[in-house]
Amino acid sequence: MRTFIALDLPEETREQLSDLQGLLRVGRHVPEENLHLTLSFLGEQPLPALEALHEVLCDLPPREVVLRLSGLDILGSRQPKLLFIRAERSGPLAALRREVLTAVRLAGIELPRTRFRPHVTLARFSRDMEERDAAHLGRFLQTHGDRALPEVVAEQVTLYQSVLREDGARYDPLASYPLVPMAGET
Ligand code: ATP
Ligand code: MG
Repeated sequence: MRTFIALDLPEETREQLSDLQGLLRVGRHVPEENLHLTLSFLGEQPLPALEALHEVLCDLPPREVVLRLSGLDILGSRQPKLLFIRAERSGPLAALRREVLTAVRLAGIELPRTRFRPHVTLARFSRDMEERDAAHLGRFLQTHGDRALPEVVAEQVTLYQSVLREDGARYDPLASYPLVPMAGET
């Protein structure tokens, strides 16, 4: 099955992002309950590999992180493909991603090395965007491009199955893993 590991966003953060999406009149918006930060895209994996990964993640839960989302950006320079908000690539977030990749490797899953550009996708655009929609998107970016959300503690990661459908993917959580609180906190 098609799978990925994501950092789940606190409800308040998803609500803030959903409010922002509400100001955008173009594109296919990612539904509020689907907003996430991908830590590792696993692609097609057989069940035994996922079971092994589940064991490892239960035994070695990664550490909690403070999430800072700020700055909107577009993927696709000539043709806008998607709109996202960047996450600060902090030391703890990079460490969390490394911990997840280590778990993936310990489960015997081999993935190509990819650069980590942490982000939350907000909307996707169809190929032939009309000119006035492109103009609206441009204005939206000018007005809201610098948006920074209040920082929040992200407390769990989830292993998702992604079922691709014509009207957008459906994500089914297979298992969630609470993150270990940061040292120094009670
Ligand atoms: P759709 O592809 O129908 O637009 P989606 O992108 O939400 O839906 P998936 O393609 O299953 O669904 O992707 C699940 C998550 O993994 C998304 O956050 C997506 O950005 C990310 N992802 C998908 N493919 C890759 C890839 N090749 N490398 C890195 N991340 C990926
Ligand atoms: Mg996709």
